[in-house]
Amino acid sequence: MIWEAYPRRTEKQPSHLECILNSLTGLNELNVEATRRIMKDVARRPVSRYELEAIVNSIYPRLQSWIVDLPRCIQDGQSSVPHIFLLHMYYHTTIMVLFGLLKTPLESSERTRLISPEEARETCIDSALQVAHMIRMHRTKWSIEYISAMAMHWVAIALFTLLDNLDEPRSRDAFVDLCFVARVFSRRWLLAKGILRMIQITAEKMNIQLPTETDTLLDDFSVNSWDVDKDARRLSSAYPNFILLAQRVSALGNTVDDPIDMDEWLAKWDGEKARTPDGRQFEIIAGLLPPCA
Ligand SMILES: [Zn+2]
Repeated sequence: MIWEAYPRRTEKQPSHLECILNSLTGLNELNVEATRRIMKDVARRPVSRYELEAIVNSIYPRLQSWIVDLPRCIQDGQSSVPHIFLLHMYYHTTIMVLFGLLKTPLESSERTRLISPEEARETCIDSALQVAHMIRMHRTKWSIEYISAMAMHWVAIALFTLLDNLDEPRSRDAFVDLCFVARVFSRRWLLAKGILRMIQITAEKMNIQLPTETDTLLDDFSVNSWDVDKDARRLSSAYPNFILLAQRVSALGNTVDDPIDMDEWLAKWDGEKARTPDGRQFEIIAGLLPPCA
């Protein structure tokens, strides 16, 4: 089967769709298994550190086998069709999500048995850098305007992963590149706007100094693009703040009652600015609060 770029019909290439579909199914199976094991408690009680380590430790070797056993034609560097980049970014995002649950420093009562926070952190950053690398390749080859909407999720998790490692130059460079890409996405997709706003506010709340290279971009986004009244009210997804989700699963940081979903979280932290002239509080469409009268 042949693939060609759309709408710019520049070149024809083998699509590898069959190879990708089979491999995607295998990766989905691993994701579903990991999610079920981590979220098996319907009451959503936090999972113990050791239990999380055991789950990640059993899934990770299978993820590594998955990437090694990919058909040669869709291995890294073999083809530049966009859906192969997306498949690899999905793999790296899976790793960032799983190891992201284990990178918080240990409590005094905890000890590492299988995976240390440092190891988890390094593994997450390596994968975030890989996502940035593949986005750069996609951008060079096909431009970023024609990328699939799925890329928004991989970029979001990579941005959250790099956020607390900006002192390291390679992370900082990758973060700046991905911020630029997220800004492009935000012009097209409302969800990407919400993600970019979450990154901005999360950095502020965590006292993280964002790279100066992103100042102009983020200022422009805040002033000319993000409309706290109009945009945030339209967000109704259960898209989580990834850093807080990781803390929730492992019982660190915020309390169970604190919001982690994008709409409620933005409403809480952007809410003060969203008061309407008549003093009404921010409206949450899909959250727990009733809509404004
Ligand atoms: Zn193939």
